[in-house]
Amino acid sequence: MVSGRTFIQNPGPTNIPDRVLRAMARPAIDFGTTEFSVLLDSCLMRLNNHMRNSGPLIGYTSTGHGAWEATVTNLFDTGARVLLCDSGHFSHRWGEMCEAHGLDVSWFETGWQQGVDSDALRDVLATDAGRRVEGVLVAHTETSTGVTSDLAAIRTVLDDLEHPALLVVDSIASFGCTPLEVDALGVDACLAVSQKGLMMPIGLAFTGISDRAVAAAYANKRGRFYWDWRRRLEAEGYRMFCGTPPIHHLFGLDEALCMIAEEGGIDAVTNRHRRLADAVRAAVEVWSEAGALKFNATKAKERSDSVTCVRLAENYDADKVVAVARQRFNLSMGSGIGPLAGSAFRIGHLGDLNVPMLLGALGAVEASLRACRVPIGTGGLEVATTMLSEVSS
Ligand SMILES: *Cc1c(COP(=O)(O)O)cnc(C)c1O
Repeated sequence: MVSGRTFIQNPGPTNIPDRVLRAMARPAIDFGTTEFSVLLDSCLMRLNNHMRNSGPLIGYTSTGHGAWEATVTNLFDTGARVLLCDSGHFSHRWGEMCEAHGLDVSWFETGWQQGVDSDALRDVLATDAGRRVEGVLVAHTETSTGVTSDLAAIRTVLDDLEHPALLVVDSIASFGCTPLEVDALGVDACLAVSQKGLMMPIGLAFTGISDRAVAAAYANKRGRFYWDWRRRLEAEGYRMFCGTPPIHHLFGLDEALCMIAEEGGIDAVTNRHRRLADAVRAAVEVWSEAGALKFNATKAKERSDSVTCVRLAENYDADKVVAVARQRFNLSMGSGIGPLAGSAFRIGHLGDLNVPMLLGALGAVEASLRACRVPIGTGGLEVATTMLSEVSS
């Protein structure tokens, strides 16, 4: 189908609003000017406020992988032990990166259908009598499984045990979608990117850090250069990017942050994500009544407000559903990753999205499932429509 828009319901990259695209379509400016430094400072300040972080915010021209590498190489020297909460493809990758940088990784597996179980975490950390674990690394929302872990519960475990490990959170898929209070949760490093909840193109990443994280970075003897927080913290203005700053991305980010403010601030934005995600979950619940599909996330309270991962029963081909959705209905979704390849698809519902966009997407998912002869309960789209008609937007 060539007419009309393609619906981007991937859990990244997400829809880029026309306003953001237009804000970026302009000539470059000299990054030595006051105009540029005001733009940069204002973007960093607003982003940090949205993270509820009072410590520094470091920006990079990079993907999320870059923010991972920056965080790992600044906080931990070779041989340092970290507890890596492996809850799916992305967190697993992060752990592999830690190993590539010579860290001693203790793998804490949550399984692909659940988040971090705080009792199990408590049992593991309680055995760390010598307090050798220097960091606990966790993905807030694991994009491959659609599971969001309870960060407050993890913080409580660390506090109860008086364990000094740094709490390092990949909020790449949750930032701007699920409430996250860096100061209040005692998060020492909080990683985010431009292309998911922030409605921007790929290319900017951020880490909000605590004073303890700053101290750890200064104490860390590991050799590093491009990612070095010390260089970036001490540098003035644009030099924090360690090279020519991403001027056009900052034009876009400024506009995206204006849109967030116009919507009523970050809490209004996360509330919208919750309402839209509830509607997706209601539709999936109805579809699942025919027994051919189910949520990947087994615990209802762990189902993510950014992405819903749907598993199909054996004998049904999830890749075919994704392909039909793309080819016949102009709907782009995420496929299953790792052990879920071929048996799951993922509906992204984060970033620039409103009620008719979401209902259009759910209608296309329903049509794709029917076209692929996957039995579904009737009335999923209707339930979602009813739900969204009942709450103010
Ligand atoms: C998308 C994603 C990443 C990777 O980000 P890139 O920009 O693709 O490198 C890491 N972690 C999570 C949870 C993600 O969703």
